[in-house]
Amino acid sequence: MVQEYETIVVGAGPAGLSAGMFIARQKTSCLVISKDLGGQLNLIPKLENYPGTIMSSGPLLARTLENQYLTFHGEMTFDTVERIDEDESGFKVKTFRTEYKAKSIVLAPGKVPNNLGLENEGNFANKGVHYCTKCDAPFYQGRTTATVGVGGYLVESGILLSRMASKVYLIYRGGQLGGDRDLISSIEKKENVELVPNTSIKSISGTNSLQQITLLDNTGNEKTVNVDGLFIEMGSKINLDFVKHLVKINSKGEIEVTDGGKTSHPAIFAAGDSTNIPYKQIVAACGDGAAAGLSAFNYLEKLKGRPGIRSDWKKTIGDTTFHY
Ligand SMILES: Cc1cc2nc3c(=O)[nH]c(=O)nc-3n(C[C@H](O)[C@H](O)[C@H](O)COP(=O)(O)OP(=O)(O)OC[C@H]3O[C@@H](n4cnc5c(N)ncnc54)[C@H](O)[C@@H]3O)c2cc1C
Repeated sequence: MVQEYETIVVGAGPAGLSAGMFIARQKTSCLVISKDLGGQLNLIPKLENYPGTIMSSGPLLARTLENQYLTFHGEMTFDTVERIDEDESGFKVKTFRTEYKAKSIVLAPGKVPNNLGLENEGNFANKGVHYCTKCDAPFYQGRTTATVGVGGYLVESGILLSRMASKVYLIYRGGQLGGDRDLISSIEKKENVELVPNTSIKSISGTNSLQQITLLDNTGNEKTVNVDGLFIEMGSKINLDFVKHLVKINSKGEIEVTDGGKTSHPAIFAAGDSTNIPYKQIVAACGDGAAAGLSAFNYLEKLKGRPGIRSDWKKTIGDTTFHY
């Protein structure tokens, strides 16, 4: 028999687990389906910007969020969602192993950063090689760094690193930097940034952590440079094939959401890195996950003819309205 839930959440990263927690806490049946626990949290050994904790790690936060969700009797299964379709009762959710039914959906499939494709790259992940400059640049105060990538991502990475590192090599394949003109002219003026055009990274090396990168220019010349950190900003992949026929997706491949994680479909909500929110960070994913979860709950309450949870509490005293 096909198992049925009021809400199915896709993804057990910070957005999906937060959504699940807020749904399950309202005593609404909820299943989180995810390929893994934590998503990108598994790429963060040192986490220092999650409010309320001085220093943590991504995997520890993932376990804590999972426990908190399960405490409210939410259910969880490790599987891959392959397709979601509408049916008479709401949705049919086909996974790699089975099929479920749900009245509402929260999408939180996040994204996966692209790598450079170097042979030993994985050995240096978080040991000098990083995929999120805005997350990890602060670990490189006063140190020597390099950044490689595409378009605006690269220029932004260079700007962020130039505020922290003593030296930044900005490496790109073409002759021109791409992206915002103002940012490009700003980076060209930075004294601690060395532009390295027409160049790619041939190899990386180090004993326990990254120590050197070998550069290869368009004329075939090689040069080895000592660095403490290499930031790879090659964009990321968001895979929405399983749901792209149901929700509006923007030109960057992100789910379009408005307030409360509403998508173009009235019964589908979304949160986190797979959406068009700015500042893709854990605290934002958790906050938006909570909002998407409450919106899904409110949608279900409306189906039952009940008022749901108000999105804003206000009280008027005399001429003044207080929002809280
Ligand atoms: C290297 C790195 C370092 C970072 N450091 C920081 C930091 O220090 N501080 C900070 O605030 N942010 C940091 N971030 C960003 C942060 O990790 C993300 O903003 C956050 O994880 C997004 O959460 P999410 O739930 O939207 O997506 P994700 O964390 O990507 O989770 C998505 C989940 O959905 C699952 N999934 C995807 N598709 C399917 C499917 N079809 N079926 C089932 N499951 C599916 C995935 O397996 C995954 O579990 C970092 C990111 C990276 C890459």
